Amino acid sequence: METYHLWIGGTWTDAKDGGRREIINPATGETIARVAEATQDDVHRAVETAREAFERGIWSNATPGERAGVLLKAADLLEARAEAFARLETEQSGKPIKLSTYSDLPTGIDNIRFFAGLARNIEGKAAAEYLPGYTSMIRREPVGVIAQITPWNYPLMMAIWKVIPAIAAGNSVVIKPAPNTPLTTLKFAELLKEAGLPDGVVNVVTGEGATVGAWLTEHPHVDMISFTGSTATGAKIMQAASGTLKRLHLELGGKAPFIVFDDADVEAAVQGAVVGAFANSGQDCTAATRFYIQRNIFDRFLAQFVEATQRLRVGPTSEWTTDMGPVVSEQHRERVEGYIERARKAGATVVLGGRRPTEGPLSRGSYVMPTILTNLTDDSEACQREIFGPVVVVMPFDEEDEVLQRANGVVYGLAASVWTREHRRALRFAKALRFGTVWINEHLPLASEMPHGGFKQSGFGKDLSTYALDDYTVVKHVMSDISGEAVKPWHFAVFGDVPQA
Ligand code: NAD
Repeated sequence: METYHLWIGGTWTDAKDGGRREIINPATGETIARVAEATQDDVHRAVETAREAFERGIWSNATPGERAGVLLKAADLLEARAEAFARLETEQSGKPIKLSTYSDLPTGIDNIRFFAGLARNIEGKAAAEYLPGYTSMIRREPVGVIAQITPWNYPLMMAIWKVIPAIAAGNSVVIKPAPNTPLTTLKFAELLKEAGLPDGVVNVVTGEGATVGAWLTEHPHVDMISFTGSTATGAKIMQAASGTLKRLHLELGGKAPFIVFDDADVEAAVQGAVVGAFANSGQDCTAATRFYIQRNIFDRFLAQFVEATQRLRVGPTSEWTTDMGPVVSEQHRERVEGYIERARKAGATVVLGGRRPTEGPLSRGSYVMPTILTNLTDDSEACQREIFGPVVVVMPFDEEDEVLQRANGVVYGLAASVWTREHRRALRFAKALRFGTVWINEHLPLASEMPHGGFKQSGFGKDLSTYALDDYTVVKHVMSDISGEAVKPWHFAVFGDVPQA
């Protein structure tokens, strides 16, 4: 069994006290690797290494073309090793091999290529003479040392979304992956070195959020924190960052509504519902979780949704025919089951699922069967809180205004979808839904060129797109005298007499 170490200064290095954590495959319950658990000294060393790399300018002063070259090479290397990365991702996170291979890896590779292009297109406003006698220009510069903290649901993709735009802009990085899914982030850091990234620009420290994560967020030499995870942790990080006024980029929880009008293509909506709700076992911040179905098609939609979900193949993650795997850990399964139990007690009807498989090979893993609940109101826990598992609530609605209000009635604002053939209504909803992404007759897909990020308590700052690159830069105004005059026309206001007309 492989033991993984910390990645600091372009080399593997053990935790100072030799601490270790076991990584478990949630589909089988087997230990697949051991990983070093960083100490506070290790975190300090990683931050200082990143700081030193930044200040020496080995990467921040590289030309955009040089940076793009390294990123393109990294994308090629990842593509060449996609099979091994997909397998490792599946083993540590419990996502089906089909999903890792055909979604996470190709998406991540495309994201890297996109940011490689963007690295050569960092720009400010045109230089101009905004005051007579002076030329002003805007420089977009890297922020400095970025601490990045990622969740376990898309471990490699989240590492790519964080690290790549940050280094495309010339920053140095210390990244802390989720404690239970650090393996592909570590391998990816090593791959970046092979692609030509100078040592010290990307460093990886592994371990618990409350220790390693907190040490990073409090460190005085970190300039910015970029975090993807739960809203509760986001609030803690905001507090920790306030002491040293760090910049923040927060991608937090979601509770996406999925609104189906009676004029929608119901077959397409049902297909979209299964995929939107149960992709990655529902452990997706944009997952469809609250289904609002217009009353006159409610029974028909529900029957078809249940029937289609029953055809979802829950199985071993290494098999190509498996559509849905376990949730990420035993602890998380208990959390998800807690939500189901409390919903049951609150009067929910469990139309499908609501249980774990108890026989056969699946009984060894942390599986929760796809679960569809009805008979709940908008203020119920299952409708308000992020369950982050394969559990959805289906509810009827009558009117457009009513459903809009209900859909917006959560603290989250990450993603939403509306299903209708009436394009004016679709556009009214696209405007009025208070979510960072609104899909029309679709749910889930993302593009490298388009921003991903939240409204409200889903956070702020964007991943992907030019907006992500902007977030990792700081704007500087440079103003230069072009007149050559020693005494400028405005100086008298401070020093000298008022000129006579
Ligand atoms: P989490 O908040 O528990 O943990 C996320 C990361 O933060 C982990 O690396 C964890 O170790 C670390 N952490 C925990 N406490 C910390 C602290 N006090 N200081 C610093 N770091 C700390 O979230 P999770 O359970 O790993 O992931 C699921 C959550 O992530 C869900 O809420 C989901 O919606 C969210 N998510 C959001 C997006 C998005 O783009 N908005 C994408 C994926 C996941």
